[in-house]
Amino acid sequence: MNIDIWHGDITTLDVDAIVNAANESLLGGGGVDGAIHSAAGPGLLAECARLPELRPGVRCPPGEVRATAGHALPARHVFHAVGPVWHGGQRDEAALLANCYWQSLRLAEQMRLESIAFPAISCGVYGYPMHQAAAIAVTETVTWQKSHARPVRIVLVAYNTATFKAYQQALAVAAQAH
Ligand code: ADP
Repeated sequence: MNIDIWHGDITTLDVDAIVNAANESLLGGGGVDGAIHSAAGPGLLAECARLPELRPGVRCPPGEVRATAGHALPARHVFHAVGPVWHGGQRDEAALLANCYWQSLRLAEQMRLESIAFPAISCGVYGYPMHQAAAIAVTETVTWQKSHARPVRIVLVAYNTATFKAYQQALAVAAQAH
């Protein structure tokens, strides 16, 4: 299916695009966002700041994605996806998280990219339960691969062992279902 799970730091990956778990301002933050900005260098922040604001402080609402260059990263592009903050699951969190994956894959297709790597969007400070998020990441990426003829290599990056195991389980469930 061309979906890999990889344990490590997403900023080191030599792929066409890495996805950032950004916040609405796109002006950087902690976690994977901070790691991506420090590895990419100041050019990334400058490019993000030039993206238009939809309203004060919001360059990208939850569920949407914006593309920039990779600057000093090995990756050619950064896709800034804004995941939902977990509020218990009744505020459309699952659909918003699914959109982050689907819109990133659409953008990769439009840009004719061949490889894309995702962090566990929303699973850090945004508090999304890991197993539920892993099921969404796997469902969206598997559905994408099955419904698109043009191959894209998808890497689900696990920064820790718990994330790695959650992805393994979700992929095993998906494999059984088909
Ligand atoms: P969010 O605000 O969307 O929750 P976080 O950056 O806090 O984003 O966390 C998202 C996920 O990214 C977490 O699972 C965290 O462990 C992981 N993460 C943090 N740093 C890195 C990194 N350098 N590479 C890959 N994943 C990372």
